[in-house]
Amino acid sequence: MFALSDDAIPDSDLNRSRKRGIPQNIMNLLRPNIASMNGYVPGYQPPDIAAWIKLNTNENPYPPSPKVVEAILAEIGSDGASLRTYPSASSQKLREAAGELYGFDPSWIIMANGSDEVLNNLIRACAGEGQDVGYVHPSYSYYSTLAEIQGAAVCTYGLSDSFKIEAFPEYYHGKIFFLTTPNSPLGFAFPLEYIEELARNCGGLLVIDEAYADFADHNALQLVKKYENVVVTRTFSKSYALAGMRLGLAIARPEIIAALDKIRDHYNLDRLAQAACVAALKDQSYFQESCRRIIETREWFTRELTAIGYGVIPSQANFVFASPPDRNGLRVYNGLYERKILVRLLSDPLLAHGLRISIGTREEMETTLATLKEIG
Ligand SMILES: *Cc1c(COP(=O)(O)O)cnc(C)c1O
Repeated sequence: MFALSDDAIPDSDLNRSRKRGIPQNIMNLLRPNIASMNGYVPGYQPPDIAAWIKLNTNENPYPPSPKVVEAILAEIGSDGASLRTYPSASSQKLREAAGELYGFDPSWIIMANGSDEVLNNLIRACAGEGQDVGYVHPSYSYYSTLAEIQGAAVCTYGLSDSFKIEAFPEYYHGKIFFLTTPNSPLGFAFPLEYIEELARNCGGLLVIDEAYADFADHNALQLVKKYENVVVTRTFSKSYALAGMRLGLAIARPEIIAALDKIRDHYNLDRLAQAACVAALKDQSYFQESCRRIIETREWFTRELTAIGYGVIPSQANFVFASPPDRNGLRVYNGLYERKILVRLLSDPLLAHGLRISIGTREEMETTLATLKEIG
């Protein structure tokens, strides 16, 4: 069995508490906040990935559109000659395709090497040393890492039982506030009226991280046009099945986009990612069918888990947060791990009663369900 130690739980962010021992003379070369920080621990990617049912990082179980593969191959060509030259610095074609899809002029859109890149640049653009960066706990802990790199001060806000932000101030005076909706790891989405209220009461930038919005029944894109401090970020990693290509974007008013444009690496998206992105955006029928299947499987899996006594938070994302009847997440994590099913156990003691389980194919979820029944 697996003991509760860093190495025994490769996919747990218990690892995060591990401080690297740095000799003093090297420490002195570093900014103090960099020397003292822990660094983000991404979800585990097992080397023998094909041997696992991998439900720990919310990847898409279906491949991207065949048009994406065609576009990448066409971009490489027979001899790879196109790779000699730099890609488009402005990612103009991608911004046009995304703008058309979402109903925005391309000047309102910036492309990113994964949405992580644009989250980073938003902090760099807005929050200086010692200034406040806020986010909801639990959500995406990478915000905290990014703030630490910048030397900004992090303030987290808890959630009430009805999924409202506890102690959100009447007026938020920080520089930037991240709202993950649908939330990860819990899967619920904040209602639009509630998000709008936050936008009005936020003195800094309100960054709405919509990594999972394509699996939800609403999104906050319209608020970008209504409130000048609202930014929406999206990723191609989950709904478009392109985690390996590193593609994301942000939508905001042109002045904010122009500021972000100054900060990013000028060739932040490589040629193959750019080709893949345009092809993915243009094949909406494939995309919608892929999302539909995942949502259908999510609803089925939720019903089945509930029937065997699990507590499941109704999800608007491509994962569920589920707790077994004995509320022992670690026990079930270990049981699944032994049978080569990888899910996410979170280090926060408040979340130790459950697991975040990505939605795979229907077949994978049937196997997972049968295994959960076996584990008991
Ligand atoms: C996956 C995820 C991201 C990162 O997306 P990338 O485009 O792969 O960098 C950002 N925010 C949340 C909430 C996520 O779950």
